Amino acid sequence: MANPYDAALPKKRAASRTVNYSESDADAELSLRLEALEKRNGLGDTKVKKAKREDSGYRYQAFLDDKMTSWNFVPNLPPSFRKTSRFSNFIELEGSTVNVQRQCLFSTEGEILKVDDTIYMVSEPPGEPYYIGRVVEFLCRPEFRHLVKELMKYTAEIPSKYFELKMNWYYRPRDIHNHTKNVSSRLVYASLHHDICPITSYRGKCTVIHKNEAPGTLHSQLELITKDNVFYYDQLYDRHTLKYYDVYPTDTLLNRVDSKSPFLYYLFKRFYHVYVEEGYPFHKVLKRYFLIDDNNLETDNSWDNRCTTCKEWCNNSQFLKCDECDCAVHLSCMNPPLTRKPNKGVIWLCYLCLSRQEGSSEALHEVEREEKTMRSLILEEKRRLNHLANSRVQEKLPIKRESAWYQYVGQHMICSMEDLLDTDLLLPYPFKTSRIGPKYQWSGCNDQENWHEMPYQNQQSDNRGTSTSAELNWKLDESKISAEELEAYVSHCKQEFAPRLEMIPESCNFLDMILKILMLCDYDESSALNICETDLTRINLKEPTFTPEEIHQFEEGVAKYGSELNHVSDCVPTQSLSMVVRYYYQWKKTPSGREIWGNFKGRSKNKLSKMPKDIRESTHRKSLRERKLTKLAKESSACNFQRQSRFIDESCFDIENMPILKNYFRCLFCLIDFSPMWYKVTDGFDEDDIEAQQNLAQRPPGRAINGRPKNNLEKVDALCIRCARLWRRYGVRWEPPLEVLKRLNNNNNSSFLNSLAAILDETNMNILKTEPQQAGDKLVEWELVQDAELLARQRLALTHEPGSFSKYKRHSASNRSRLYKMVKRPYDSESYRTENMIKELENMLAEHAGNPYR
Ligand SMILES: [Zn+2]
Ligand SMILES: [Zn+2]
Ligand SMILES: [Zn+2]
Repeated sequence: MANPYDAALPKKRAASRTVNYSESDADAELSLRLEALEKRNGLGDTKVKKAKREDSGYRYQAFLDDKMTSWNFVPNLPPSFRKTSRFSNFIELEGSTVNVQRQCLFSTEGEILKVDDTIYMVSEPPGEPYYIGRVVEFLCRPEFRHLVKELMKYTAEIPSKYFELKMNWYYRPRDIHNHTKNVSSRLVYASLHHDICPITSYRGKCTVIHKNEAPGTLHSQLELITKDNVFYYDQLYDRHTLKYYDVYPTDTLLNRVDSKSPFLYYLFKRFYHVYVEEGYPFHKVLKRYFLIDDNNLETDNSWDNRCTTCKEWCNNSQFLKCDECDCAVHLSCMNPPLTRKPNKGVIWLCYLCLSRQEGSSEALHEVEREEKTMRSLILEEKRRLNHLANSRVQEKLPIKRESAWYQYVGQHMICSMEDLLDTDLLLPYPFKTSRIGPKYQWSGCNDQENWHEMPYQNQQSDNRGTSTSAELNWKLDESKISAEELEAYVSHCKQEFAPRLEMIPESCNFLDMILKILMLCDYDESSALNICETDLTRINLKEPTFTPEEIHQFEEGVAKYGSELNHVSDCVPTQSLSMVVRYYYQWKKTPSGREIWGNFKGRSKNKLSKMPKDIRESTHRKSLRERKLTKLAKESSACNFQRQSRFIDESCFDIENMPILKNYFRCLFCLIDFSPMWYKVTDGFDEDDIEAQQNLAQRPPGRAINGRPKNNLEKVDALCIRCARLWRRYGVRWEPPLEVLKRLNNNNNSSFLNSLAAILDETNMNILKTEPQQAGDKLVEWELVQDAELLARQRLALTHEPGSFSKYKRHSASNRSRLYKMVKRPYDSESYRTENMIKELENMLAEHAGNPYR
């Protein structure tokens, strides 16, 4: 950027087409233009613009033609938007407590989080959109459970650091679909998926409601589109059956289907939601078979796939429907059973319809009788069920709704609906039938001619999974060694032998071996240490030890075959496949491994190739023995610090700690290069890249690397605060405002120009001109609409007064310290060490009880 002014107005950009934001060089030009813009005083070009304006009839043609003002800056939010746009929320855990009985988290300011709240959680990797989930339970961390249970005898409020959150996730469409183009950014799917997460993963509250519950929860249906942090669902996705299920809130079932039904009332009392297979006509099934509603005699029964013989639902293709009355019968329920469906075009009539066709008075009489029995059977069943429901409701047994958030009531339950009235029956998971038939089972057992005889072999080889094939590695015998002695032995081994073997003390092989030796020595430490002295070798530990020659062969192999280790192993004839595999997983994380494997063209994600070559070389080829510290080792060394500040958001960059990089960030989505905070994005920059860049940047000033000046760092891909807000909350990528407005207007040019004019004419920043329904219909996220409108209006102001652009940069910079304060917290690592946490609990216990824990 030696001479930005000269390069500021590139000729190839002069054409009047819209800026293509995906071109990578467009960004360079853009930033040059921005700099030029700041230097300019808004003079010079105005005449040209005026001339153009006269050419076109459109009032804002000059605005559209202006190539000098950027389209991608982060607009200032007017006060009315700011309240809800606060991004990244954290819980102040210092001093907060969990009330176990009430299942709430309290801070000094009151209740902050409780069970059934729906919240954002930081995702893994942190560059992805937030996870959305429901708090199911505050769980005590297992290592403290015993003491906390004791403490709970005296107090209900326990410091929150002893707790974790059990979460029930909602999936975003992008988590489970391949194509997410035509879905709303507010649509999610319920799941049966639970995880336990640290409370610190919390990133703010959100609202997730069932679509049918919107009227009761929101002011208007439109808030599903416009209200911040609101999501809706009407289906559940089960990752085990890989199927979608329709979810019904039991309160809307009761209110909308039949508010007088005892059966529905019972469901409502017991469960929050019930779910059925996608497309299963649940309402109709309920009405016909379970609700006493005699007025409703539906004549069209084509939806009904209940087998007229066995009364089960026909859920696969192995059934026939009567061509006359639409009743269904399983192939296997026919008399005699059919093994396969008749050919297409063959008309099949049920027994009753056949009798009707026959037309004799005797046959018709029979039909009538049959139908009557059927009707009375259904009615009787309905009465019985509702009677039972009624008495169960009267029983006043404690009904735990929480334990069955979603209850399966789908097609496999059609014959066992009364089981739902059993207070002990919980069906959180969907049913699937076993798949029977020639399609799924081997049917060759009848074909005995092709059988080969094979003599029975017994005990020839080790049976897998029995004690002959398993080996005991470690068993603690507390009568022979105390926990302290064991701890002393292990730490002695770690200090003594691990460095000698050039191994990481925490590596599994090493720990397994020292423990096994101790066990074989009957828990006698001194003889175990003697054996360790002689027997602990890299060979015994099966640690791969490669000569430089072998390393060379191995690396060439990986460069050629990637992770096809079978082939790689052929390249290293002097090492076994198992050693190659072991070596591969250690080597992969070394700089050389990262480079070679990272550049392997068969690998889909190829991050390192984006880095300048000299950076890669700078970290390349350190000693292969010089392995990276494991996370554990890093953490244990971090414990040596006393009180310190901690950067608590792993999803944004700790800018204050990387002053060199501060000026090199660029937004991966909108290409802007200034933002108060920078956020991580998948496929953008990550920790390893930072390390490499920092190393490079810390070289002595003025020294050129391979002829390149050191400040020629590549841009660091991240997300600006606006794009991060869109991405983290809604999984939406930013789009240029004109693209957004075009999409909202169906790409119709005249309505696009009209709506742009309406937006630009509006002087009140708090008013958006786009109709929410329009955004909903076109599946454009409302926050993106808001960004587009604000951006267009604020850009208009900029074209009138180009010098004011620097105000945006200043504003952005001044926001930094405010935002930074939110993600930097004083942190006393000592008080989070397990030993200290246990001590703290024991002290609390002693205070309450004066008991012998002290
Ligand atoms: Zn059947
Ligand atoms: Zn029929
Ligand atoms: Zn951006």
